Amino acid sequence: MNESVLSVQNLHVSFTTYGGEVKAVRGVNFQLNKGETLAIVGESGCGKSVTSQSIMRLIPDPPGRITDGSILFKGRDLLHLSEKEMRNVRGKDISMIFQDPMTALNPTLTIGEQIMEGILQHERIPKKEASQKAMEMLSLVGIPHPEERLKQYPHQFSGGMRQRIVIAMALVCQPDVLIADEPTTALDVTIQAQILELFREVQQKTGVSIILITHDLGVVAQVADRIAVMYAGKIVEEGTRREIFYKPQHPYTQGLLKSVPRLDLDGADLTPITGTPPDLFSPPVGCPFSARCESAMEVCDRVYPVKTELSSDHHVDCWLQDPRAKAMLSTISYTIR
Ligand code: SF4
Repeated sequence: MNESVLSVQNLHVSFTTYGGEVKAVRGVNFQLNKGETLAIVGESGCGKSVTSQSIMRLIPDPPGRITDGSILFKGRDLLHLSEKEMRNVRGKDISMIFQDPMTALNPTLTIGEQIMEGILQHERIPKKEASQKAMEMLSLVGIPHPEERLKQYPHQFSGGMRQRIVIAMALVCQPDVLIADEPTTALDVTIQAQILELFREVQQKTGVSIILITHDLGVVAQVADRIAVMYAGKIVEEGTRREIFYKPQHPYTQGLLKSVPRLDLDGADLTPITGTPPDLFSPPVGCPFSARCESAMEVCDRVYPVKTELSSDHHVDCWLQDPRAKAMLSTISYTIR
């Protein structure tokens, strides 16, 4: 039986702009289990980063606002905590790392000072003990000569090393959950592979649960246990890595997989998904993918598809998979376009 560490339920997030209200996240539900990696994938603007920032309560308000939902962690709804209580959660219980390691590090402080800052904020221990912990953490993330390296500044490290340091900072207080938002996008391919391997090693050693936000299915294939596919502010399909890569059921997931090179599918042509995502100022009432979907039916534009359970881990929001779609025939004209 999977043990849940974090549960996001019916999350809605909006942003107020001069043009109106952008509904960036529209009823997102998912569960993160102990010791697993859940990847949230989708194209830019689908709401994946807004979802992760909502968990950390980092949505700037205004213009952003979490309008509905709950985020349950250790029996508490994070959306009901005070800012002071949230400061104790961030870094200690849930940590986050971002895309660009250089902007995550302060160029004027040594690596040691920056790693120790997190420890001393959450734990009442002497500086010497904090320094020892920082050193152990640098070793864990594969930085040689940690004692000397602690005294150096960010500019004295390569991009890959800086990302290792950021991971060390995120893990130093042994959080239950690590959120990694596009953690390898700014790195070249060989360093990316090393960092992904590091995530796996660190997870095995510490048991941390990871939410990986990415647009890169190559990254997902290497590290994810489960995958949630987001489109236009909703999770449209979720399943194990095997289910999503080998039995994708949502036309958007199928389109994503056809648009990236696959070594396991010899000679398959690459096909881009044509069209653009819908305007989230006034999202469609029906399926948001309908304008780009080759299988779209009239019902798709009129009613949003209800979740269809395909297995204990795999579910999809698509009329093609919903046995109840036939029942809609009697109430809605259900013709192929
Ligand atoms: Fe395509 Fe209809 Fe399924 Fe949406 S619900 S993905 S439009 S078939």
